[in-house]
Amino acid sequence: MSHQKRSILSSQNALIHRLLGHINVQSLYKSIKNKTFQHLELSDIDWGNLAQFQCVDSLQGKSRQHSHIVGSRVKHQEKYSNFEYIHSDLLGQISSPSTNTKAWFISFTDEAIRYRWVYKITDKRDTTILHILKSLIDYIRNQFKGNVLAFQFDRGSEFTNNIVRTYLAEKGISTFYTSVGDHQANGVAERLNLTLMNDCRTLLKTTNLLYHLWFYAVQFATLLKNSVYNDTLQSSARAKAGLPGRDIKNILPFGQPVIAHFTKLKTELKYRGEQGFALVPSSNSYGYQIYIPD
Ligand SMILES: [Zn+2]
Repeated sequence: MSHQKRSILSSQNALIHRLLGHINVQSLYKSIKNKTFQHLELSDIDWGNLAQFQCVDSLQGKSRQHSHIVGSRVKHQEKYSNFEYIHSDLLGQISSPSTNTKAWFISFTDEAIRYRWVYKITDKRDTTILHILKSLIDYIRNQFKGNVLAFQFDRGSEFTNNIVRTYLAEKGISTFYTSVGDHQANGVAERLNLTLMNDCRTLLKTTNLLYHLWFYAVQFATLLKNSVYNDTLQSSARAKAGLPGRDIKNILPFGQPVIAHFTKLKTELKYRGEQGFALVPSSNSYGYQIYIPD
């Protein structure tokens, strides 16, 4: 297996490749062709160069074994439409030696359109899990006018506790639990988490950001997964959810050094720029989340 870098892409191509979280050529082409991004045209790419392009970071971050876990699905789910059947999985624990903290994340994937959400948690208490579930249910109702009818949870006891069961039962939401030891049954969520973690590793590797920022990388990867063309959907999850294409002008490469300007700080810092690193677009505004060391 040779890992040599054969040629350098035009800087424009390289920028777009990084902007879109080290997207592969095929996904890039299909995404542009199907207009899953705004302000990105086929003519923005020098396609002639691409055959020789290999991004070293992508090769290292994504391990060869993209082991595809084949999900044996729960039978009932065929009849569900957008936002009605949600796969869920808990990943972690992930520890950050630099900050001595531990955390997990929960991923949710809509069965019908593969739209994804991720939430970080720092404990696995039943009330914490319940809070996340309520947030997601509300978010789906408010943003998409969707009604969650069923959750499929992984084998972890986090989701089988009484408080979660009772709440969902009262709301008329069905729950399907993967039986202990049956990894395969929750294939959709687990497959998502594998690719998310691979993408996350690539993003963190290409930057000099500290590892404790891993969840921002997960969020960035999720945002892009929702935005790129998906062969099964013949579209992007965003488009299927009724959202406009992600505007390429509003994305910065993960970890891109930026100068952040503050206007509301103490007077002595007013108008002064600080060196920072771009993380992810804010979910609720036109702002951007920036990491500023110290
Ligand atoms: Zn790459």
